Amino acid sequence: MRALVVIDYTVDFVNGRLPCGQPAIDIEERIAALTQQFVDQGDFVVMAVDMHEENDEHHPESRLFPPHNIRGTEGRELYGKLKDVYVANSAQIHWMDKTRYSAFCGTELELKLRERGITELHLVGVCTDICVLHTAVEAYNRGFRIFIHEDAVASFNPDGHNWALGHFRNTLGAELVRDYNR
Ligand code: ZN
Repeated sequence: MRALVVIDYTVDFVNGRLPCGQPAIDIEERIAALTQQFVDQGDFVVMAVDMHEENDEHHPESRLFPPHNIRGTEGRELYGKLKDVYVANSAQIHWMDKTRYSAFCGTELELKLRERGITELHLVGVCTDICVLHTAVEAYNRGFRIFIHEDAVASFNPDGHNWALGHFRNTLGAELVRDYNR
């Protein structure tokens, strides 16, 4: 069994308040197509979406980044065609708020995966070297087989992006895939 986890592909992270910019815009079609593909094949699909409260002085990211993905704002909505795929298939897609980089941290993700007997985790989204990376590390520690879709992850930082791809493959034993269709 496999699952697709779509990480932080929201307005704020693509071209909003904490933007990855063009590299993130460039993967719009691919993220939407992969999400549709996994939905059509009956796989478990998760939208793991960063959520912050306005003026949360206790959150560590408040000292690191401008405010982003604030609860109830447009910046937290899925970006572009992914939103259309989500709206059309929301009954089959699991929405999961998260408040840290990793989709496993403080969420029910692991329970949802174990309940379904899922051993294979496919990761897409942004940023390659922050939230995708932290999620992949936790997936590794929990014994999941990891697939990173090279054509559906992006970062504002090209060096960080490339470093993370190497780390996925060489240190986490992940498979890097592109044009994936199964
Ligand atoms: Zn955040």
